[in-house]
Amino acid sequence: MEKYGVNELRKMFLEFFESKGHLAMKSFSLIPHNDKSLLLINSGMAPLKPYFTGQEIPPRRRVTTCQKCIRTGDIENIGKTARHGTFFEMLGNFSFGDYFKHEAIAWSWEFLTQVVGLDPNRLYPSIYQDDDEAFDIWNKEIGIPAGRIFRFGKEDNFWEHGSGPCGPCSEIYYDRGEKYGCGKPGCTVGCECDRYMEVWNNVFSQFNNDGEGHYTDLIQKNIDTGMGLERLAVVVQDVDSIFDVDTIQALRNKVCEISGKEYDKDHETDVSIRLITDHIRSSTFMISDGIMPSNEGRGYVLRRIIRRAARHGRLLGIDGLFLARLSASVIEGSKDGYPELEEKKRFHLQRSEQRGETQFNKTIDQGLRILSELEEKMQSEGKKVLDGQDAFKLYDTYGFPLDLTKEILEEKGYGIDEDGFHAAMEEQRERARSSREVTNYMGADATVYDEIDPSVTTEFTGYDHMEDTSKVTVLTTETEIAESLMEGQKGTIFVEKTPFYATMGGQEGDCGIIKGANGVFEVEDTIKLRGGKYGHVGVMKSGMISNGEKVTLQVNEEARKNTEKNHSATHLLQKALKTVLGAHVEQKGSLVTPTRLRFDFVHFQAMTPEELEKVENLVNEKIQEQIPVVTDIMDTEEAKKSGAMALFGEKYGEKVRVVSMGEFSKEFCGGTHVKNTAEIGLFKLVSEAGIAAGVRRIEALTGPSVTAYYKAQEEKNT
Ligand code: ATP
Ligand code: MG
Repeated sequence: MEKYGVNELRKMFLEFFESKGHLAMKSFSLIPHNDKSLLLINSGMAPLKPYFTGQEIPPRRRVTTCQKCIRTGDIENIGKTARHGTFFEMLGNFSFGDYFKHEAIAWSWEFLTQVVGLDPNRLYPSIYQDDDEAFDIWNKEIGIPAGRIFRFGKEDNFWEHGSGPCGPCSEIYYDRGEKYGCGKPGCTVGCECDRYMEVWNNVFSQFNNDGEGHYTDLIQKNIDTGMGLERLAVVVQDVDSIFDVDTIQALRNKVCEISGKEYDKDHETDVSIRLITDHIRSSTFMISDGIMPSNEGRGYVLRRIIRRAARHGRLLGIDGLFLARLSASVIEGSKDGYPELEEKKRFHLQRSEQRGETQFNKTIDQGLRILSELEEKMQSEGKKVLDGQDAFKLYDTYGFPLDLTKEILEEKGYGIDEDGFHAAMEEQRERARSSREVTNYMGADATVYDEIDPSVTTEFTGYDHMEDTSKVTVLTTETEIAESLMEGQKGTIFVEKTPFYATMGGQEGDCGIIKGANGVFEVEDTIKLRGGKYGHVGVMKSGMISNGEKVTLQVNEEARKNTEKNHSATHLLQKALKTVLGAHVEQKGSLVTPTRLRFDFVHFQAMTPEELEKVENLVNEKIQEQIPVVTDIMDTEEAKKSGAMALFGEKYGEKVRVVSMGEFSKEFCGGTHVKNTAEIGLFKLVSEAGIAAGVRRIEALTGPSVTAYYKAQEEKNT
């Protein structure tokens, strides 16, 4: 059998399914799009969900992908089993109401035995116990003897997530030979050891579960399959584990080279080598998809992975920075399949890893010291469990993820009061929430801003200006107040008066440039801070700007104007929803950017296609009517009497700003708007979905984004 490489196998798979009429799509980002149920993409099917549920129309009814996946649920297995990575690539072929079991099974067999050339005598299919249809296909059509087809129960071979589409699976296992077996009696297909390795899973989604265990046939039957590319490479290349296949082995060797350790000499060392090899793959891919280490969500997963890898680096005796160097090897090995790795490399990949690592090196020694002091204390007090508060302090101050502390303590026979840890964390969240009434940049802690003299304020002149001149009152770098900002430095500029709108009321802050006599600063975001201060956040493009200097502030007009189209359209949308659905519609949140708008509102069921059409038409009518947009400053009480819509539960001062579009819409609003609804041009709804009980979310486009949207659709269809 030919020993194809990982990059070759990926290509062979996609080309094989293209030859069977599939559209080969690029891997989707690891960050789920419009899917709150998932932190990170964990299967080929996950990003295609809207095609399965019928929410969106697929570009073709047969699709094939090689999808980047992260499974943090497997983190404990990493380095210990032969077949698990936190990062892996999943090959898949999908049918959205097109072909079904016969083709799916026949093609998977054809690919494995004919294209790749695996020995059919080492392959074993498994099926769901009651799926006689699949049994007959394997037995009669493919010719597998009955005794080689394994029937498994619901937990193994029935794919189901609560209510909705579900169905039986059929897996394909490869027998890697006795030497990989656990030797226990009864070790056969389905055993957790690494002898019979599951390579491929075919899911036949054919039923709908109404949530109470009643199954009915789906009208549109789907196929969803997944095969781990690395696992396929293990059997094709006939190697011990995914850490021995060509591309990953190259990376593993690099780990050995940097640490000066030899592979396959000592079990503990090998686990650390494999763990670093895996974790560096995950973190490189995550960073290249735009995830940054942080204390929450995806960013936290990333931070945990980087720190875990760095700690195992320590265990191997590597000092100094090494992860950034390794990520270069990941890029080298995988850029064929994922050109974005190479593209993003220069921008932030290595920087952000280095930053995480440098910080880590500084804090880990301190943290380890404190942890060993705590151990001594526990020992002298005869305690076996680390206090939750202490564990939290390690996490909060020294950046020790809980599972890292746990891992280190467990090695010495100690535990952690995890409930206490979570309670301390929740307490801190509460504190942060109440102190963070004002927005701060990207959720970062705004400590540097807290040091600014509270008497500093900013006047906003941007309702009718896109440019203004003013004097710099305060400058800060990312960490401290500064006298000047130099080329390349990131920071925030405060001035006496500004035309830049700061993120507020759902409208995103302006971007643009600030010019001084000797330098240019690029404003990436504008934020409003306590006490009416406007911070222009960005980076010095050239030269320098100093405190007290006179500067010219120029808003990026195109972005602002597009934002205004979206903002005015949001007002029309709200009124249209109330008109079509009823008075119960109430704003729950909104986001207005240069490229799109999002509106969350109270409504108790999905909108029907007719309702959506009515709303879209009504908004477009109001655009066609060319209604002037007028703003007035009014007494709050008077404004309320006039019927202007206010946000429920919001506290307003004595005076409010009211934005009206003829008789149609009248809203309390501090944002910026078009002068006439005609400027909006066009309005297009692109999605409507539930985000919480009784809350729906609409996403829509206006003006140039609508044209771009139709253009993209047209290209997809040709
Ligand atoms: P296992 O029981 O071995 O963990 P699984 O049942 O979790 O596998 P599926 O969810 O069916 O696997 O995923 C489809 C395919 O993706 C598997 O057949 C396997 O080839 C691959 N796969 C799943 N998890 C991993 C992982 N952590 N690392 C590498 N490949 C994986
Ligand atoms: Mg699994």
